[in-house]
Amino acid sequence: MKYISTRGQAPALEFEDVLLAGLASDGGLYVPETLPRFTQEEIASWAGLTYAELAFKVMFPFVEGAIPANEFETMINEIYAGFEHPAVAPLVQLNSNEWVMELFRGPTLAFKDFALQLLGRMLDFVLKRRDERVVIMGATSGDTGSAAIEGCRHCDNIDIFILHPYKRVSDVQRKQMTTVIGDNVFNLAVEGNFDDCQRMVKESFADQSFLNGSRLVAVNSINWARIMAQIVYYFSASLSLGGPARSVSFSVPTGNFGDIFAGYLARNMGLPINQLVVATNRNDILHRFISNNRYEMESLHHTLSPSMDIMVSSNFERLLFDLYGRDGKALAELMEHWKTDAGSIEEYRWKSARRLFDSWAVSDERMCEVIKDTYQVNEYLLDPHTAIGVEAARKTRRDMRVPMVTLATAHPVKFPEAIEKAGIDQPPELPHHLSDLFEREERYDVIENSLAAVQAYVAEHRR
Ligand SMILES: *Cc1c(COP(=O)(O)O)cnc(C)c1O
Repeated sequence: MKYISTRGQAPALEFEDVLLAGLASDGGLYVPETLPRFTQEEIASWAGLTYAELAFKVMFPFVEGAIPANEFETMINEIYAGFEHPAVAPLVQLNSNEWVMELFRGPTLAFKDFALQLLGRMLDFVLKRRDERVVIMGATSGDTGSAAIEGCRHCDNIDIFILHPYKRVSDVQRKQMTTVIGDNVFNLAVEGNFDDCQRMVKESFADQSFLNGSRLVAVNSINWARIMAQIVYYFSASLSLGGPARSVSFSVPTGNFGDIFAGYLARNMGLPINQLVVATNRNDILHRFISNNRYEMESLHHTLSPSMDIMVSSNFERLLFDLYGRDGKALAELMEHWKTDAGSIEEYRWKSARRLFDSWAVSDERMCEVIKDTYQVNEYLLDPHTAIGVEAARKTRRDMRVPMVTLATAHPVKFPEAIEKAGIDQPPELPHHLSDLFEREERYDVIENSLAAVQAYVAEHRR
């Protein structure tokens, strides 16, 4: 399968090169040239498969030619066997026809494990075959860093450097990163904020000369392979709830638009999906665009659902590419314009976006009420991101006969502040495999807020 850039000027690549590429050379994002499409009969025949078996069916067309079937199967089996629940992505019922899908049963308790576990394995496989070593650099305010480290800790051909803002991530999140002890894992606590970390990573990608010829690889959500891995659980939920004969709706706590974009792809691949709900916190640029056709950046609001605190959603460009009839040149102009100015798109294009998505924005106050109510009614503890999804699902739902599934993107134990603010006096407990997290040895280096210092550290420590 070939992959093309959303801005139309970069060369088309094979899967293997997309895996290593990050941004396209024209500044765009890679998308498949054509999507695999499954018939209803084919999807129906997958009922009863295990998660790993289903994952193979859904994803293999994307990697075919780059990774042999038997290798790919082994990777998937091993990864999803490492999840804590035998169903991998179990459904929990909250109300009549209303569900949450628990995507936090992986090693770091957030849905990002689904993709980053696989990404680490695929990178390692490809790099070994090429006899190449790479450096991964990433900035994190929490979930991505730990999931990336867990995904790469056993990869011989990767050195991973994750920057987090010193003293500005929660204890659980820091420990999930810094207690992974390995020769190839480096945690840098930068004396600055998350934006400083992100800027230094960006600048390092733009000029990689400090690495003396070694290559940097991106594991942030613009990496195509991450989106690919997230398509699978939409199929899984649907098949459990009577699909494909019956269509299902999804509400997705959204930041960078990666997770919900995977749902959009699942629908385009033939899965009957009724509504796709973009659920945001106060950082609601997507909700404003979908409701008013105004794309306008605001300053960042810090909320109790920090993994959705964004100013722009990087993966939204992938949807815009389709809304622009896959005209890369036109999209490149739009993106250039939106860099500096607010704007709208032609009415008919915006209307098609509205047919594809519903949206809702939820305040911290309302989110806390939802956590509290759900705890009282269901004896079930939602994490703050998931609570936003549940509220958005209820506000936008059009047909009560269609099952509504909210993606539960993180375990509540990762966000104790929100749980406390919601008035829950019983703090959530760490799952068994992490119960000794607070006793584990930590390893990280505090580093001054300077690009030169960070790059010197990376150059010195990479193997
Ligand atoms: C990353 C993250 C999100 C947002 O996902 P996107 O793919 O960026 O839209 C939502 N919830 C949690 C807990 C996350 O870690």
